[in-house]
Amino acid sequence: MMKKEPVIAIKNLNHYYGRGALKRQILFNINLEIFPGEIVIMTGPSGSGKTTLLSLIGGLRSVQEGSLKFLDRELFGASQNQLVQVRRKIGYIFQAHNLLGFLTARQNVQMAVELNDEIAQSEAIAKSEAMLGAVGLTERINYYPDNLSGGQKQRIAIARALVNHPPLVLADEPTAALDKQSGRDVVEIMQSLAIDQGTSILLVTHDNRILDIADRIVEMEDGLLTRDSQAMVNSYDSGVKNHNSEKR
Ligand code: ADP
Ligand code: MG
Repeated sequence: MMKKEPVIAIKNLNHYYGRGALKRQILFNINLEIFPGEIVIMTGPSGSGKTTLLSLIGGLRSVQEGSLKFLDRELFGASQNQLVQVRRKIGYIFQAHNLLGFLTARQNVQMAVELNDEIAQSEAIAKSEAMLGAVGLTERINYYPDNLSGGQKQRIAIARALVNHPPLVLADEPTAALDKQSGRDVVEIMQSLAIDQGTSILLVTHDNRILDIADRIVEMEDGLLTRDSQAMVNSYDSGVKNHNSEKR
């Protein structure tokens, strides 16, 4: 079977904040590939560079050094306009749900549909309601965020992120503000939608209780990717291969 093309391919990526004497390197020689449909969890201490890496992958910051490809499109040297095109193909879920308080659940999701697509309003409404149904909020479609629980708000954010069927969803500590059960519910909804839609997910979390939804776990420490469970499997495979060829 031919290996699918990666959604994200990162090679020798470095990143710095500040200028001159204040310039400080934050990411060191990052190499990472994410394949279609893969759920990758990134863990690591606070301040290790996870959000910075996510913002680069999401086209929210310009790549300074190295290569970062999103669906074969190189983001190093990309124009602001090209970055906007990339952002349209990515769903974002943040720790704080970032919903608009003056819009209902349905309107929050609908806005994402209408920003992306030239579609009739009735169709945008239907799509939004279907998506809210998929995250279990059929009864809450016309509620304002203030009248919903943290878990319900985060489920709206998931509906909003996935309503346009993006190839990639980036989630930055999406369960941080939730109790154990709502956090679990939220990631299970993300997982099942990702499987249905073939979406790749890169999810940053400190929450050890949700690691089991991952196909792969990577760890960031002081700006370095220090662990990649997939890479470990791969190097084990190639180790075995080398061993076999030596025997021949
Ligand atoms: P994490 O998400 O793993 O907590 P971040 O990517 O947010 O890590 O931050 C990595 C490092 O970069 C931290 O030392 C943080 O203080 C610093 N940092 C983050 N954003 C900025 C910024 N906009 N300007 C300068 N330094 C920043
Ligand atoms: Mg962070």
